[in-house]
Formats: sequence, structure tokens, C-alpha cells
Amino acid sequence: NVSFVDHPRPPARLGQVGLRVKSVIAVGSGKGGVGKSTVAASLALTLRQLGASVGLMDADVYGPSIPHLLGLSGRPSVNAEKKIEPIMLKEPASLPPMPVMSMGFLVEPDQAVIWRGPMLHGSINQFLSDTQWGELDYLVIDLPPGTGDVVLTLSQALPLAGSVVVCTPQEVALLDAIKAISMFRKVNIPILGMVENMSGFQCPDCGKSYDIFGRGGARDKAEELKVPYLGGLPIDIGIRTAGDEGRLAEMIAGNSAARAPIEAIAKAL
Ligand code: ADP
Repeated sequence: NVSFVDHPRPPARLGQVGLRVKSVIAVGSGKGGVGKSTVAASLALTLRQLGASVGLMDADVYGPSIPHLLGLSGRPSVNAEKKIEPIMLKEPASLPPMPVMSMGFLVEPDQAVIWRGPMLHGSINQFLSDTQWGELDYLVIDLPPGTGDVVLTLSQALPLAGSVVVCTPQEVALLDAIKAISMFRKVNIPILGMVENMSGFQCPDCGKSYDIFGRGGARDKAEELKVPYLGGLPIDIGIRTAGDEGRLAEMIAGNSAARAPIEAIAKAL
């Protein structure tokens, strides 16, 4: 079992926004397509597997991909206490259901979300305060890529335990990751560390390793920026197909080899 981190942040303010959560962790990236949502979802699933009670909030309001990755659909209902009931992930049945909230549950899949700052602000606050999250050890938040309004809203709304910055080893991705880190610093969100995704590929047939996007760039950059390096995740066809087919939860639960690098990241938090 993981020993859950007691982050030095006053939980009292979490109570003020109606949250009964020990640690709120935001997962961000400098740019899209680096696997931020995959890492956020896998992290939430792995923390749950390690025995924590976890919720997952998809704050990537413009491109919500969490419902797809987890094969979830449906419309959240409003209960008698006027709270939004999140959609519950019930896979695998051996683990307690995990509450998930996403803009993807509220708009049609092919509908574009065109919102200005204040509306965005309202929806994020509603996701946090008006959702029946219950009592959680962790609320993992999948941020939109880049820098912007959502992070600002979150930083004002509640004391986050910290942020995890996902990037690939490529120089361009690293440059964007630096911007994300500087933004978190500006709004006083602690940086828990960097994760290198798509860090090398091992050929399943011959066992040979290929550094398709490079390898080790994030570790070096983390050292340079004096933020912790949490670990890396290789390119894995299983992760890609599970995500595409909405089976990420089953994959994480059933494939301990694929889960191992995420477990290491969860324990390094
Ligand atoms: P982002 O949230 O940064 O836009 P996603 O998590 O949606 O990125 O991932 C983008 C694509 O890359 C998805 O198709 C996902 O399945 C795939 N992907 C992410 N991480 C990996 C990985 N480690 N190995 C293989 N495919 C991955």
C-alpha cells in the first residue's frame, strides 16, 4: 500500500468550497497530445488500486477525453441536496466505484465548447463545489493543455496539493513544459514534479529499445528547473489501444507491468 502523503496545505479551505478531499492534484502539460489525460486517468486509477479513495475531474473543458478513455457516458443527475451526481466508474468490480466528472458528460460528443473566461470560471467552480464527490483521499484534475483561465480559477478556488507536469522527451514539448511550470509558480501552485511520457519504446518482438521521441529530456529539465522528477512512462501499444477502446481502467487493473511505471510515479508524489 502507498503511504498517503499529508500535503502541508490547510484542508479547512477545501471545506469552504464543500470538498471533503485530502489532496487535490492537478495534471497539466505545456501542449496537447503528450498524454496528459492518459497520465491523469492512469494516476487516478493506480492510486485507487493502491487503496486510496479517488475522484477524477476532467477540467479539459475544450477537449474532454476522460469519458472516452474510461468508456463512460451518461448524464450526471442532480440529487435532492441539489448536488450533481458524478458518473461512477464501476470497472473493475473488485474496486470501489470512482466518481468522474467531465464536460464531456454535459455536451454532445461532436459539440464544440466555446466559452469565455467567466463561464469557464463558473463551470470549474461548479465541478468542484456542486458535485457530490464524497470523502476522498485524492481528487485528480486533468487540466486543459497550456496555460490559462482554468489554472487561474483553480488556484483561486482551492489550495491544491500540487501539480504534475507531463511532457514528452522532445525539445519542443520540454520548452512548453517550462512555460507550464512557470505558470504554476506564478499562481503559487506547488509543483509535485515532472513526468516523461512516451519515454522510449521497447519492441515487443525483439526486445530492442528505441528512443522514438528521445529519452531523459524531462529528467534533465526537471533537475535544471529544480523540480522533482517523478518518473517516465514508455510508449506502450496497450495503453494506446486501451485508451482508444475505452478500456483504460481494465488495462490498468489487469496489467501489472503496464501499471508499474505509474505506480512508481504515484509513490513519488
Ligand atoms: P493529451 O491529454 O496530452 O492531449 P492524451 O492522453 O489524449 O494526450 O494522449 C494522446 C494520444 O496518445 C492518445 O491516443 C493516447 O492513447 C496516446 N498515448 C498517451 N500516452 C501513451 C503511451 N505512453 N503509449 C502509447 N500511447 C500513448
